[in-house]
Parts: sequence; C-alpha cells; structure tokens
Amino acid sequence: MNSTELLAQFGDLLLNDGIEIVDLSAVLGPETPLLKLPPELAVDTPKIEIHSISAYDDKGPWWAWNWLKLGEHSGTHFDAPIHWITGKDYADGATDTIPPKNFVAPANVIDCSKEAAADPDFLLTADHVKAWEAEHGDIRKGEWVLMRTDWYKRNGSETAFLNADETGPHTPGPTADAIEYVISTGAIGWGSETIGTDAGQAGGMEPPFPAHSLMHKANKYGLASLSGLDRLPAKGATLIAAPLKIKHGTGSPTRVLALVPRR
Ligand code: MN
Repeated sequence: MNSTELLAQFGDLLLNDGIEIVDLSAVLGPETPLLKLPPELAVDTPKIEIHSISAYDDKGPWWAWNWLKLGEHSGTHFDAPIHWITGKDYADGATDTIPPKNFVAPANVIDCSKEAAADPDFLLTADHVKAWEAEHGDIRKGEWVLMRTDWYKRNGSETAFLNADETGPHTPGPTADAIEYVISTGAIGWGSETIGTDAGQAGGMEPPFPAHSLMHKANKYGLASLSGLDRLPAKGATLIAAPLKIKHGTGSPTRVLALVPRR
C-alpha cells in the first residue's frame, strides 16, 4: 500500500472512530506539581500563574483571554537535548530546531506499575528492558520508550507526586545502564509518569540524572509527567508529542496524544 492510500484509510479510520486518541497530558495550572531542587544546587521553576487579560468585560467586551507565567519544564512536558549541558551544542537540539518528523513516533510501553507500587524507589535496569523485548518485541530505531508506573495517579497532590522526605524525592525511574541500553536500540526518547524523566534519587547515580545526561548527550528527547500510560498497549501506539516552537527553547509543556488501535 502506498502512503496516499494508507493516509486515506487512516483518515477514514479517524472519522469512523476506528482509532482511539488517548490524551497523555495532565491539566496545566497553578496546582500543577513542580520539581523541587536542593537549595544549594539550584533555583526552582516558578509556580504557574494564569492571569486574565479580559473576560467579556470592560477590558475586552467580546472576548476572553489570559496570559501565562510558566517555566518550560512545567507539567506534562518535552525535554529537548539542549536542556542538559551534555546536549547543549546540538544545532537541531532546541524546541525550534528539532526536525518535526521526530514529533510523531511509535511507542514502547514498559509496565513497571506493580514494581513501583511495591517500591517507590524502583529502578528499571537494562536487563528488565531486554526481558520486556523478549516478550513484546524489539525496540526499533526512532521509537519512544515509556516507563509506565501509574505514578500519574498521584499527580493531583504535589506531596504525593514528589514523595519527598529528608533524604530527597522517592520516585521510580531508570538506571544508567537501562538508559545506555535504550540509546543503543536507536530509540528517539525516554518518557515517564513522574515529575522528571529520572528517578527521585537519580542525583546520586553515575552519571547524575542519567536519563537527562545520557539521553540528551545522544541528542534524544524526554517526556515527563505523562498521564495514563495504563491506557496504552505495550506496542502498537503512535505518539504525537510536539513542544511549543519556543526560540532556542529547552523544552515546553506539551499536549501528548497517543493514537491507539481500537480494541
Ligand atoms: Mn524537564
């Protein structure tokens, strides 16, 4: 089948509800949980603010619109390679320079929900990823790899979502060797349901924050605070994840959609 026929059939399927569109984004607003960093290390991203310009009133009689104050890495969002020092020199590594074909790609969903429920510090290893491939099939070049933990169910509460104590945040994520293996498959990016793409305790790993450090070093992308990966099959979904075209942007809140075969 050529692409003209294929896209015509795809259009028919969309119009006839033959493909499910799953929204993988959380609502973005003042209640959105935001990353907290150790004060000696860094400055935090500001709280999200939504300000009314007018609301069908004397400031604009027939229209409503708002202006926003928000960090690039707020809520469900895309990490571009220049987000990290290891990826800062990629000419095609910013939100306005990433090739748009990379914003549409198939997804592999690794279910770690049971492990994360038993241990909030659960770490996915390269061996886990290889075992998943043995069961579901290989991760192919250009695809997303997403870590399902059902952590998004905590997203309504910043305390539960960050899950921090005096030793820092406790949330699941990948080991450095898992990320090295994911990169070796040719995957385009790594996504998770937690506040960032790394585990809560990843600051103590080698290298620190491997999902950021290694993926962006390889000119690959991240998706954080994804919501509802339990609605996707292990294989067979296609992701549409396009950040705002911010000039030299390091990332952006993103409406991430998955196209899923109707069961
Ligand atoms: Mn980020």
